[in-house]
Amino acid sequence: MDCLFCKIINKEVPSDIVYEDDEVLAFKDIHPAAPVHVLVIPKKHISALTELQKEDEALIGKIYTCINEVAKKVGVFESGYRVIVNCGKDGCQEVKHLHFHLLGGKKLGEKIVE
Ligand code: AMP
Ligand code: ZN
Repeated sequence: MDCLFCKIINKEVPSDIVYEDDEVLAFKDIHPAAPVHVLVIPKKHISALTELQKEDEALIGKIYTCINEVAKKVGVFESGYRVIVNCGKDGCQEVKHLHFHLLGGKKLGEKIVE
């Protein structure tokens, strides 16, 4: 499958990994939009939020506890952070493998939508 994030999971493409287990991978975004910008992804290829299945519910719940672990690791658990999932054309999703942007390390803008 020609999916960039599957290649990152398979280590065919290098990345700066901050967390990994059998189901979840987290790595630094190559073009950080904030001092802390980590992408947290399921290892299962799910192309977008719209493709979620009932069977994925536990995995998505787990991703949020992993996000907390990553937040602790990168030092934003106490200061706070924002989690964003872009979906589809209007959501400006570029990479078609579900990913959660974990952003922080500074006071983020109050507006989510420009
Ligand atoms: P999205 O626009 O929500 O699909 O986000 C895709 C994100 O992937 C962007 O923030 C990119 O900077 C990031 N990205 C693209 N290629 C890589 C890569 N090779 N390693 C890490 N992050 C990447
Ligand atoms: Zn993929």
